[in-house]
Amino acid sequence: MADGDADCLFCKIVAGEIPADVVEESDLSIAFRDLDPKAPTHVLVIPRRHSATLPELAADDPASAADVLLLTRLVAQADGVEAGYRVVFNNGAEAGQSVFHAHAHVLGGRTLTWPPG
Ligand code: AMP
Repeated sequence: MADGDADCLFCKIVAGEIPADVVEESDLSIAFRDLDPKAPTHVLVIPRRHSATLPELAADDPASAADVLLLTRLVAQADGVEAGYRVVFNNGAEAGQSVFHAHAHVLGGRTLTWPPG
């Protein structure tokens, strides 16, 4: 694997070594449907470049972090949920992060309550 972390699940998706239901792509990011959706729209947007969290990516490569956000908007528009959708970043195990490659969860298509659990 050229630039990725050999043990990282999402780097393997970026490299095409693990299949994913890709819905949007750019030079810097990929968006694909979550395997275990928590809403009718549940898409993950990940940077091609490996960083553990989005805030770390913003420090390492601001253009890549901005591109993740741009793709969240395209995903919401493509799924017809732009009137109301949530973008979630779980940063760290205590916040529920289980894959340590930065990713945005794009959630929509149902009423989303606040505060999240
Ligand atoms: P987090 O818990 O915030 O780290 O989110 C990781 C997300 O990745 C979870 O919602 C998982 O359901 C999802 N996930 C894990 N493996 C895959 C995969 N191979 N394809 C799509 N989604 C995945």
